[in-house]
Amino acid sequence: MREYDAVVIGGGPAGMTAALYLLRAGVKTAMVEKLSPGGQVLMTEKIENYPGFPDGLEGWQLADYFSKQLDLYPHDMLNDEVRSIKVGKPFHEMTVGDEVVRTKSIILATGARYRKLGIPGEQEMIGRGVSYCALCDGNFYRDRTVAVIGGGNSALEESLYLARLVRKLYLIHRREDFRAAVCYQDKCFTNEKIEVVRSTVVDEIVGDTEVKGVAMRNVQTGETSTLEVDGVFIFVGFEPIMDFVPEEVERDQNGILTDNEMLTNIPGIFAAGDIRSKLCRQVATAVGDGATAATSAFSYLEQLED
Ligand SMILES: Cc1cc2nc3c(=O)[nH]c(=O)nc-3n(C[C@H](O)[C@H](O)[C@H](O)COP(=O)(O)OP(=O)(O)OC[C@H]3O[C@@H](n4cnc5c(N)ncnc54)[C@H](O)[C@@H]3O)c2cc1C
Repeated sequence: MREYDAVVIGGGPAGMTAALYLLRAGVKTAMVEKLSPGGQVLMTEKIENYPGFPDGLEGWQLADYFSKQLDLYPHDMLNDEVRSIKVGKPFHEMTVGDEVVRTKSIILATGARYRKLGIPGEQEMIGRGVSYCALCDGNFYRDRTVAVIGGGNSALEESLYLARLVRKLYLIHRREDFRAAVCYQDKCFTNEKIEVVRSTVVDEIVGDTEVKGVAMRNVQTGETSTLEVDGVFIFVGFEPIMDFVPEEVERDQNGILTDNEMLTNIPGIFAAGDIRSKLCRQVATAVGDGATAATSAFSYLEQLED
């Protein structure tokens, strides 16, 4: 059975930073990542608010920099999914694919996934006109008409990306005011291809084998209408990925609860990045969490030895 001092679960910005700090401190560390290292950064076209890159940089490029820096320090990379964790002392046990791995400390850094609207037509037409990733699917809608649903940073950022490809884009938001950063609002509201539809909810995605439109309702007037579109991009927030985390690890509806040192209520289990219940889900905060979690894990391991 493989045995480590620390296992970092998730190879996004939080996990890669945590692993970097642990490896530099000489801790016997493994990283588990079910896909390619990079996390959500790989779904991001351009990142303009991560300090140190005044011209911004493409998401894949940042992921590659993180990865290359981590690879300077030899470590085990387990390319599989963590399915469950059994809490113990001094060793916790986890199932990685079909293998059981033992570790004295764990850093949970599995990030977050898109939230679904849960309306008729959504699940049935995923991949047939319903998408949650502009960078992945935008190209299918060149010179076509799409709807983007949402009012936060992701929705507006993705709308700006899609507007370069599509003929027409309806940005549908359930409220009158947008919560996205003003810089994104300014760019969207002045873009000729983007038509903003406010105070409106989408009740159904209409279609059969592929998306044909969206059935909408104005929440102020109650008026209903159908808009013909070829694709629907949904950006209504993210939910932390914590299905594999044992129930005894405390959480709320926004994610895993930690103290300022990234420690959960279970000794030896730390959390970092978007999986945490926190205000700001960004690369900069994920990196900060990762560094803190690694430093705490290091102290924990030292205490275990004493
Ligand atoms: C479209 C989009 C645009 C964005 N734009 C920006 C931006 O401009 N600036 C900015 O700062 N932030 C941006 N963000 C947010 C930023 O990408 C995230 O806050 C950040 O990536 C969170 O890092 P993380 O390491 O916590 O999680 P993630 O990046 O989500 O990484 C988690 C990793 O864990 C892996 N994983 C999940 N479950 C398991 C499991 N059970 N076993 C093994 N591995 C697992 C996943 O495959 C993933 O690689 C954007 C996000 C999106 C989606």
